[in-house]
Amino acid sequence: MKILLLGKNGQVGWELQRSLAPLGELVALDRHSTGLCGDLANLAGISATVRQMQPDVIVNAAAYTAVDKAESDAATAYAVNAEAPGVLAEAASAVGAWLVHYSTDYVFDGSGSQPWEEGAPTGPLNVYGRTKLEGEQRIVARCAKHLILRTSWVYSARGGNFAKTMLRLAKERDHLTVIDDQFGAPTGAELLADVTAHMVRSALTGAAGRFAGIYHVAAAGETSWHGYARFVLECASWAGLALKASSSTVDPVPTAAFPTPAVRPHNSRLNTAKLQDSFGLYLPTWQQGVARMLTEIT
Ligand code: NDP
Repeated sequence: MKILLLGKNGQVGWELQRSLAPLGELVALDRHSTGLCGDLANLAGISATVRQMQPDVIVNAAAYTAVDKAESDAATAYAVNAEAPGVLAEAASAVGAWLVHYSTDYVFDGSGSQPWEEGAPTGPLNVYGRTKLEGEQRIVARCAKHLILRTSWVYSARGGNFAKTMLRLAKERDHLTVIDDQFGAPTGAELLADVTAHMVRSALTGAAGRFAGIYHVAAAGETSWHGYARFVLECASWAGLALKASSSTVDPVPTAAFPTPAVRPHNSRLNTAKLQDSFGLYLPTWQQGVARMLTEIT
């Protein structure tokens, strides 16, 4: 069994290198790889990579994820998030491979307060969301054997993340102001990678039509960025970290207090029942994953 992983050094890609390894022979690429092309901006190159390698599974963790920058760099975001997944889908279909791809709650308009189901009407608010939605649509149209995992608020211990920023600011200031009107579930790259490996295994052993589709994958529960920040500072306090700010000195503010080039959805809640029912998987609470990540970084 051969697996091609693209975007191996991103948050999710890094964890996939670990979780996919026991499933088969893994070839992991990034945009700088030599020999085989892993640059999603090179459409002919990635198509040739698939033809040459003839993988059984392609996992695409590469994406243009700079949400604000995408507003002024739409052409690059479109090439990487929409065109490249379409080319990958055609190439996967030609060699009979499964294509696993990640998408986002940003395909929705963020209205209401109910968790989004997979079939809910889409309505992206920003360039990033529009390019990710187009990528999904191209995959669905071109490769029947697809698994598209829509997720939200991804973090990992590696590299920068929201929790690290809050800890840094809490060391410098006695009050923090954090947005309290966007809701979702912080989801660990580790969890996404582990869920992906289980899904791939089920897909490979089941009838293709049984598992192909779009799935929402996020940790259980919900919070706001304000609630997330408070939890981080509570955990830090239990761990004995010396901070100037505490969970009670995190002040809630509306999104309007921090204007950004890209409009963000208020409701990023994802209903994950389809994933849990289809694959027999259980999703732990967001607090479990964040607490574990904090133990690793502090
Ligand atoms: P990261 O930004 O951590 O990783 C994305 C990776 O894609 C980076 O390693 C980046 O490489 C790579 N990449 C960008 N452009 C290219 C290119 N032209 N060719 C090859 N590689 C490229 O993202 P995540 O791991 O967090 O995201 C994984 C998936 O989850 C993505 O599909 C994203 O859209 C989705 N998602 C992420 C969310 C989040 O909060 N992060 C929320 C919802 C969905 P380089 O470092 O060299 O630029």
